[in-house]
Amino acid sequence: IKQILLASRPDGMPDMNNFSTTTATLPDITDGQVLVKPVYISVDPYLRGRMKEEKSYIPPFRINEPIESGGVGEVIASKDSRFREGDLVIPTGKKPFFPWATAAIFTGDTLRKTDPGVPPTYYLGILGMPGLTAYFGLMDIGKPKSGETVVVSGAAGAVGLVVGQIAKIQGCRVVGIAGGPEKIRLLTDEFNFDAAVDYKDNLNISAAIASACPNGVDVYFDNVGGPVSDAVMEHLNFFARIPVCGSISLYNSTETPTGPRVQPTLTKFSVLMQGFTIGNYAGRYHEGMQQLVEWVKAGKIRYRETIEEGFDKLPEALLGLFSGRNSGKMIVKV
Ligand code: NDP
Repeated sequence: IKQILLASRPDGMPDMNNFSTTTATLPDITDGQVLVKPVYISVDPYLRGRMKEEKSYIPPFRINEPIESGGVGEVIASKDSRFREGDLVIPTGKKPFFPWATAAIFTGDTLRKTDPGVPPTYYLGILGMPGLTAYFGLMDIGKPKSGETVVVSGAAGAVGLVVGQIAKIQGCRVVGIAGGPEKIRLLTDEFNFDAAVDYKDNLNISAAIASACPNGVDVYFDNVGGPVSDAVMEHLNFFARIPVCGSISLYNSTETPTGPRVQPTLTKFSVLMQGFTIGNYAGRYHEGMQQLVEWVKAGKIRYRETIEEGFDKLPEALLGLFSGRNSGKMIVKV
């Protein structure tokens, strides 16, 4: 089998030198084991965090060991009676990951079959970690009310597209922030956002946000941090809520990022700002999933994916998240 390993820890923006490819031989499977080849592998911004040696909610990758991330695979041999050749499966439980390898051995207990009625890639996006993140971050922390203005950054991405559509379902005015005219068009023309701000094209992003949000900002779902978020902070209403979902603009910083001090704003306007990781909601995944499935089936939430082809494309696809190469969920078809 082929494997992609973490060759070195990046300093700043990662590049191809931080990855290496090797071959290995797998042993024969024994009782209770299942041999799986990945069909789709997910690349996600948080993987950048695992490339660093730092304390976090999840341990770092080890040097010269395979990177791992979410995925959907096909059973190619099984010694667990619950699985048969050809079954589509996803890793589940405490370590729901595929190693970046062209095949891997799992114990049956750590696998779950996919539902044939659901497109397999949905398990990595709308009905997977990003969809649940959008749902719980927005509904539990953002608590949007009908008529309020919800701003979401990283709006054309895996999480952002779902946040915007859920906010529309709640009856909110929805404003997305994303990079480039194609993404702005996607948000307003295809996903019914009320307005969209191109942060790459706006010399004065704060003014663009002000004109997109004539009644101020009640909920800011923050996917990116940095200067984009600094600008949104200038337009908050009293009792605004800010779910801090991610800070992709800061993941490659080599120095401690600094910016405007937000504390006086939080106090003046009684703003709630709360970070979270989706793992906090592990006990409620079922609820989130049921609601998302219902909206998807009813056609109230649509989705978008960017699918790169080929196992070798994994590192490039991961790096592409930092230049915005994806619309919706970035996935590699192995
Ligand atoms: P996306 O599909 O949104 O992909 C990343 C996007 O980020 C890119 O397409 C790009 O879009 C944007 N981006 C990259 N660099 C910058 C920058 N410097 N400034 C502004 N935007 C930038 O990824 P996800 O939807 O999977 O994740 C979105 C965020 O949510 C990330 O911060 C991620 O870490 C976080 N997250 C958090 C979770 C949690 O449990 N808290 C779970 C899942 C995700 P553009 O072209 O618009 O620049």
